[in-house]
Amino acid sequence: MYDTSRSIVNLQEKVNNLIFSKEILNEIVSIIRRRYPIEACGLLLGKIIGDNAYILKVDELKNVLGSTDSFWIDLREWMNKILKYKRQGYEYIGIFHSHYRGNVIPSMNDLERMIECPEEIWMIIKYTSEKVEYAAWRLDDKNFGLYKINIFIK
Ligand SMILES: [Zn+2]
Repeated sequence: MYDTSRSIVNLQEKVNNLIFSKEILNEIVSIIRRRYPIEACGLLLGKIIGDNAYILKVDELKNVLGSTDSFWIDLREWMNKILKYKRQGYEYIGIFHSHYRGNVIPSMNDLERMIECPEEIWMIIKYTSEKVEYAAWRLDDKNFGLYKINIFIK
């Protein structure tokens, strides 16, 4: 699965900027609100040009843990959806998931998962009824340093 995952992800550029519309953000938040208090997760898809990743499409993935403080995905669903969207012209950018406690920094569990797919973008949305905060991260392939991606809403 690891080799398959890497060949599907195949991010060719090191992304430094994540760019999306208010509508995309609203869509992510509405997925999260619908699943609350279970952690929600999903795919980020779109176009990667240079070090800019443009999210043009999001799609929910099932949190197979059904947990309020952790998540994981069904790798088959993840792979099938990436391939489906690839055929429609969308590139795979990464995944998003929600946090209800703590902050927008990857948890220890998140970091362990991220190591399996370095260079993939992880967007974390801290959701409470009062406030929505978000950040995006990636690991460097070589030294596993955690990088914060710039976010622009356009
Ligand atoms: Zn997390």
